[in-house]
This record gives sequence, C-alpha cells and structure tokens, in this order.
Amino acid sequence: MQQFLEAIQSGASGDDIAALPIPESYRAAFVKRDEVDMFEGMDSSAKDPTKSIHVDEVPTPQLAHDEVYIAVMASSINFNTVWTSIFEPLPTFGFLDRLARESDDAAKHSQPFHVIGSDASGVVLQVGSAVRNWKPGDRVTVHCNHVDDQDPTAHDDSMLALNQRIWGFETNYGGLADLAIVKANQLMPKPAHLSWEESAVNALCNSTSYRMLVGSHGARMKQGDAVLVWGATGGIGGYAIQYVLNGGGTPIGVVSSPERAQLLNDMGCEAVIDRKAEGYQFWSDEHTQDEGEWRRFGKKIRSLIGEDPDIVFEHPGRSTMGASIFAVKRGGTVVTCAATSGYMVEFDNRHFWMKLKRLISSHFANYHEAAAANKLICQGRIHPIMSDVFALDEVGEAALKVHRNQAEGKLGVLCLAPEEGLGVDDPEMRERVGEANITRFRNR
Ligand code: NDP
Repeated sequence: MQQFLEAIQSGASGDDIAALPIPESYRAAFVKRDEVDMFEGMDSSAKDPTKSIHVDEVPTPQLAHDEVYIAVMASSINFNTVWTSIFEPLPTFGFLDRLARESDDAAKHSQPFHVIGSDASGVVLQVGSAVRNWKPGDRVTVHCNHVDDQDPTAHDDSMLALNQRIWGFETNYGGLADLAIVKANQLMPKPAHLSWEESAVNALCNSTSYRMLVGSHGARMKQGDAVLVWGATGGIGGYAIQYVLNGGGTPIGVVSSPERAQLLNDMGCEAVIDRKAEGYQFWSDEHTQDEGEWRRFGKKIRSLIGEDPDIVFEHPGRSTMGASIFAVKRGGTVVTCAATSGYMVEFDNRHFWMKLKRLISSHFANYHEAAAANKLICQGRIHPIMSDVFALDEVGEAALKVHRNQAEGKLGVLCLAPEEGLGVDDPEMRERVGEANITRFRNR
C-alpha cells in the first residue's frame, strides 16, 4: 500500500493510480471467528475490545462489478465497533455467513476473520466494470448502507430493503484498514476543507442523525421545534444538536458531566441537563420505574425552555425510554435508533396513547439521506465532532474508550494517512468555515 500512499501524496493522476497493482494482502483491524466465546460469562462492561481486536495482514478479496477498491486514509470508531468486538448482542460472523450464501461473489465475506469499521475517507484505486460515476483518483468518503439493488424492496426507501446491511458490521472488509472494498453506491465526495480524519468521522453518525430528525422518514423537525437530545456530546447526539440549531429549533442537551455541559454551551446549546448532577433514578429497581422521577425530569425541561419537547432524540433505550415517552409533548414524537443501556424497553402506554404521542424507529440512512447529510458537511454547515485521533494499531484502545463512555463526539483513526492534518484540498474554504467550528471537539 506504500506505493499508493506515495502516489496519493505526490498528486498522481487517476490513470497512474489505476496502473498500480493491488497488493495480495493488506493491514486491517479484525475480530476472529475462533474467539467469539472469549468473554463468555463476563459482564458486558468487563469485556475488553483490546483483547479481541487484532491488527494484521488479511488477504485482499476480489472486486465485484459494482464495487471499488479504496485506499483508506482514515476511518473512525463507531458504537458498532464496540458491539462487534465484545460479540454482543451476537457475534457478527452469522451476518457474514448469511451474506456469503447470497451469491458467488458474496461468498468472499465468510472468513475466519471479520475486518471491522463502518466509516472511511480515502481515494478510489480501481473500479469494477459496472461502476459509472466514480473513477480512480477520486477523493471520497464512504457511507455504510450496503444494499443489493436487484431486489424490489430496495427501490423505495433502501433502508427497507430485505437485504439491507451495515458495511463493516454485517459485511466483511470494513473501513478500519489500509484498503477496503465498497459498493459504488456507498461513495460520496470528500469535503474539500477537511483533513482525511475529519472527513472520515462523519458519515455513519451524521447520516443517522439526519434521518432521525430532518429526513422524511424520521421526526420531520420543523423550525421552532424543541428537541431533547440524549447523549448530546456523543457520536449521534453531537450531530443532532447541530441539526436542531441549524433548523431553527431549540435543543435541550442531556449529558453527564460539567465539561460536556460546557461543550454544549460552546456549540450554542443553552438548555443543558447534567443527568448525573440531577441524579435521576428512572428505575427504582430492576423491575419498577419511578413516575415521580419522570415528572422531576419533565419539570426540569419546562424550567429550562418553558414547554415540553416536540421531539425526543432517543438511543440509550431501557434506562431512558420511559422518561422520554413521558416527557415528550402531547402529540409529540420520540425517535429512536438504539438501545445502548438495554433493548427490552418499557413505558407507560397510558401517557403514550392518551396524549397521542408517536414513537418512530430509525436506522442509519438511505443513500439519498446520507448524500444530503454529506452535502451539509461539504458546505461547512455541519461540522465534524472529532475529539481524538488514534493509529490503526490502537483501534482496541479507542473502542474501549467508547465502550466506557469516556469519549466525546467521534474518535478518528489514521489508516494510510501517516499523520493528522493531511488531505485538506481547499484551505481558503477551511478558513471561511472557521477552525474553531471544525475543531471544537478536538481542542478540549
Ligand atoms: P456514544 O458513546 O458516542 O454516545 C452515546 C451517549 O449516550 C454518551 O455520550 C452518553 O452521554 C449517553 N448515554 C450512554 N448511556 C446512557 C444512559 N444509560 N442514559 C442516558 N444517556 C446515556 O455513542 P453513539 O452516539 O455513537 O451511539 C449511541 C447509540 O446509538 C449506540 O447504541 C449505537 O450503537 C447507536 N447507533 C445506532 C445507529 C443506527 O443506525 N441505528 C447509528 C449510530 C449509532 P452522557 O453520559 O454524557 O449522558
């Protein structure tokens, strides 16, 4: 891959890049099939990604007609990196085996290793014979919606496709590597004013938040809406806050430390709840929720903004869903995409139906939504929320930080890029957008 790095750094033409040979193997971060039981019997919080994630050479797969090889300059840690590496709720090898049965080409996904990673920025190296809109040398970011377009279910909203998958989680050959294969319909232009790592951290979380709040399949936020965002300096929360502010709404950000509260204030979010300082105990024991605590939470929101939220941006799941359903305005919408604290959720249905509330499920984003979210990054209207950068060899340590809720925003990972700060193609635009906006999370 060194040849590719030199070619990219020296500004080689697309033809020159296409003429270079694809190596037979490449460096990647992966989990192993024969280790899926390594944490058996352990508590979730004790499962350590540094033990299960390996970085080594893997054989390069063949390219299908609708795929491209990309040199991955940078990638990022997502919560699905954590799920994969602690083998919860399921080991991911079952996903790979199911995909492998779909076609001769897909058979390559079933391996003793699973190369992880659902984000990337990089350069197109070679394209399959059916690829039309992209060519070698193109600088790209990658979204993770892996969809087979030969299925009619994929042609309204592709997130409804029966064989919709998340690249690098439910497919092999993900982005935490020096090379990746992706379908051509996962490619998007790289933001010219951002470095490789700043470009790499956005697609998964930014697109998810876009669909949940802005897109026609989500909560359809409108100007003036009050939106309560859990985990408001986390991966998806940090983009959600920006969408609410951009869209003329009032965000109420929930976080768990004074430092995170300050970060929200710096972003322009004035209404902030420190859930730890408030000491909410929505569950009084394993089986019982405390409506008094829901009321205390609702009162706190009213004291900050003078009304109940029109929308609640929900993802902690079991620990918060009861409070979210209770606190959202009469006729309001709770939109959920996850269940970090547990997926068996419970809420009081009386508060739900009598007050005509809505609960919307959401998952990643279709290509149209991902491209719209990427366009906002390219225009400098939504900014990366990268707080730290790791080397590819340190993916386990980075995933552990996210697992322990010790990371703000997003963690970038340098793959082929030898150092931070490379890959900015439009420094004038960067100056216009403002260093303070671009690096707000980085410099804390
Ligand atoms: P992060 O770890 O970056 O952020 C999550 C935030 O949630 C934390 O910062 C924390 O904030 C808050 N949080 C964690 N536990 C609790 C709790 N028990 N109660 C209240 N708040 C809590 O993760 P991401 O934002 O990247 O992802 C969040 C979830 O969304 C994950 O489960 C992930 O798998 C899922 N996800 C789903 C996607 C989809 O397409 N369906 C896409 C992306 C993510 P604080 O402690 O400051 O309150």
